[in-house]
Amino acid sequence: MTEIRDTVILGSGCAGLTAAIYTARAGLKPLVLEGHEPGGQLSITTLVENFPGWPEGIQGPELIANMKKQAERFGAEFRLAHLRSVDVGARPIKLNTSLGEIHARTLIVASGASARWLGLPSEQALIGHGVSSCATCDGFFFRGKEIAVIGGGDSAMEEALFLTRFASKVTLLHRRESFRASKIMLERAMAHPNIELRTNTVVEEVLGVDEKDVRGLKLRDVKTGVLDELAIKGLFLGIGHEPNATMFAGQMDLDEDGYIKTTRNVLTTHNGQVIDGVFACGDVQDRRYRQAITAAGSGCMAALEAEKYLEEHGH
Ligand code: NAP
Repeated sequence: MTEIRDTVILGSGCAGLTAAIYTARAGLKPLVLEGHEPGGQLSITTLVENFPGWPEGIQGPELIANMKKQAERFGAEFRLAHLRSVDVGARPIKLNTSLGEIHARTLIVASGASARWLGLPSEQALIGHGVSSCATCDGFFFRGKEIAVIGGGDSAMEEALFLTRFASKVTLLHRRESFRASKIMLERAMAHPNIELRTNTVVEEVLGVDEKDVRGLKLRDVKTGVLDELAIKGLFLGIGHEPNATMFAGQMDLDEDGYIKTTRNVLTTHNGQVIDGVFACGDVQDRRYRQAITAAGSGCMAALEAEKYLEEHGH
């Protein structure tokens, strides 16, 4: 017999775990399906200093482990499973997972967004050791240092501008001549005395793998082919995020970049009509704030909506 759960939560980052704590405390025995990045983006960061309640900061993985423990204490169940497909229109909602079929009365989608990386082995080896995809999380550690930001869109401009609060110099590297960023953001970055823009430039290698600490970048000018090195202490990726929502395409309204569109914070829709019992929270539906605390906040909202929905439907 296929099991029917009151609440299934997809994703175990900050949003999913907060939804798990709330639904577990409401006695719903939520089942959390941990995806391919258990713990979400916090599990790959280091010190988190802006999550309220931790005056000295807390390591991202520790914060996640604490949240998971808290959810388990109230009866949340965790399984490592890969979601193959989902039918959000069926009642109960049908999830086809690597562990078999699971049926759910309510579904909370907290599958997050994954930062895009360049994919260089040296970059991957230095994540958390000077390479970061989150300026608001890690900028503070680069006070008085020279750093680089990659990208030519609004995220890269925003990160570069934000990082001038800490870094003595920010070099913004973009692979093309023209920028995708909005005019106002680009003009702000160009006008800043501590930001230098370099176009037609790609990173060949992040230097410092042996030292486990970023020492610089090996760069290539794509027009001339000339190689050179840039001495920096930190590298920030601002090349965008990919929301983990492709499995909902055609069943749920997504925006032009694939983020789940929500109404009243966490309600999902299909062709503009609210999908009963299916909620989305965290970065999979938030392209603007993307903070641990905002993800947690929306996870709470999704849980309260799921509780209310189940109560109204006699469960
Ligand atoms: P985006 O607009 O897609 O820009 C990504 C940038 O990264 C592009 O310049 C792209 O280069 C570059 N890039 C992608 N892959 C790369 C790679 N492998 N190597 C080197 N460069 C790479 O993404 P975004 O900046 O995150 O913005 C996403 C959306 O959010 C946009 O609609 C944006 O306006 C919005 N946003 C708004 C604000 C704001 O208004 N404050 C802030 C952030 C984001 P190419 O140009 O060559 O493709």
